[in-house]
Order: sequence, then structure tokens, then C-alpha cells
Amino acid sequence: MRWRLGRRSSNVEDKRHVRMPRGRRAAGGGIGLLVIIIIAILLGADPSKLLNDTSYVDSSQTTNYDQSGTSSGNDELADFVSVVLADTEDTWNDIFSDYGSRYQEPSLVLFSGAVDSACGYAQSAMGPFYCPRDQKVYIDLSFYRDLKYQLGAPGDFAQAYVIAHEVGHHVQNLFGISEQVYNARQRLSDTEGNRLSVMQELQADCFAGVWAHNADKARDILEQGDIEEGLNAASSIGDDRLQKQSQGRVTPDSFTHGSSEQRVRWFKTGLKTGDVSSCNTFEAEVL
Ligand SMILES: [Zn+2]
Repeated sequence: MRWRLGRRSSNVEDKRHVRMPRGRRAAGGGIGLLVIIIIAILLGADPSKLLNDTSYVDSSQTTNYDQSGTSSGNDELADFVSVVLADTEDTWNDIFSDYGSRYQEPSLVLFSGAVDSACGYAQSAMGPFYCPRDQKVYIDLSFYRDLKYQLGAPGDFAQAYVIAHEVGHHVQNLFGISEQVYNARQRLSDTEGNRLSVMQELQADCFAGVWAHNADKARDILEQGDIEEGLNAASSIGDDRLQKQSQGRVTPDSFTHGSSEQRVRWFKTGLKTGDVSSCNTFEAEVL
């Protein structure tokens, strides 16, 4: 992917140096804090310092945060993510204005380990996610290591696809689709609800394809092999593949993202047409 000369986004929030104290939620805050203060007193620290800042410890005030993996390699990744986000902004700004509407750009939060979002506390193991309440995409860049080594999907375009998929959820939020799905799921059985969730996920994949199509048309970003990288990523994070990896078997009723074949097909649909109206997974004859 040709990205180095691309614009950097001003909507990236770097929270990689913000450390969430362990067990904060589990201890319900109060008790956890009490324990920390007692330990701090035992260790001879000044507890008033802790009380001034109970929500997190910003380890950038200490000297050793580099141990957490904030290497130059990670900063190139952060740079890359910023360019991809900026490209999604340019692309969706254009698409929305074609529809006579205005695109509200989402923020992207880089975090390390765990993060507090308007949708709750999240750990990196959950993978990248989008929170409709604060309109932010959250990603721990270590996910890209898992994508490459554990899920077998290397390549910069595979990484871009992940961002574009999350931004796809933001577009759904702006269209009011996320809210409709959320409301409908309250009335449905788990199986029906999961089916709706699969439709939503596949549409986000299709929107990722729409981004790639339009971004390439406007800025010529795609290089040889990029499409294959994106398709391979879509395939390797299909629920069937993930379930097989974790449970050794596949149970379609509990799919919430779609099978590998479905994810690849919907990503390709968006990529081919570049048109959001081709992404109506909710009324598709074949999902
Ligand atoms: Zn998703």
C-alpha cells in the first residue's frame, strides 16, 4: 500500500502511555484504591499523590514505559494508522457530500493493554472495536502482531482493512443503522439477534471495500498484492475460522461476524462497486 506520503489525521488520541490499574473494575474502585493506598503506605510512598489521581496512572511520568513495547516499530504503525484514518476521512467526506450530507469524523484511540471507553472498560484481548456512544475507534497496535502471526494475515493492507472495518461501523452509526440493530436485538432471540449482528458486521466489511475502491480511485493507494492481503485478513477473522481455532469446532448459530466466505464476499462487493447502496446486507437474498 502506498501510504507514506499520505495525510496524517488530526483525530488520533494516543493513550498508549495511560496505564489502567489492574483489578480496578473487579475491586469496584473503592476497595482497590484502599488496597493500593495501604500498599503504598507500607512501601513508604506518599498516599496523597495517589488520591489526587485515582482514575489512572500516567506512566509517561515514570521512566520505564518503553518496556511496554512502545518501540520505533510501533510508532511507524501509529503513523500508518493515522494515514489510513485520514484516508477514510477524505473518502467518507466525499461520499457523504455526494449524498448531500456531512460526514462527522470519528476519533481513533491508540491504547495499550486496557482502556476506558464510553462503552465500558475494554482489554486488548477483545480486539479493535468501535464505540457508538463516543464515536471512537479503539485499537491496541499489538493486535497487528496477532493478525500477522496468530491469524496468518500479514501486510499493510490487511492492517488498513481492520481500521476501515471499524470506520465502517462508524458510518453505520451515522446512518442510524447501529441503533436500529441494537433496538431490534432487544426483541429477538439470541439466534435471530446473532443473525442481525452478522448482517451488521458484513455491511462494515462491505463499507471497508467501498473505502478501498474510492481511496484507490482518488489517490492510487493500492499496490500489487494488497487486495489479496485484505481478502486474506477478512477470511482469517471470519467467525468460523476463529471458532475453529479456539474451540476446535464451528457452531453457526453463535456467529456474530460472519463466516470467512461471507466476509470475503462482502468486502469484495464493496471493493468492486465502491457504492454504499451495494452493501445492503439486511435485505440481501444471499447473506
Ligand atoms: Zn465489526
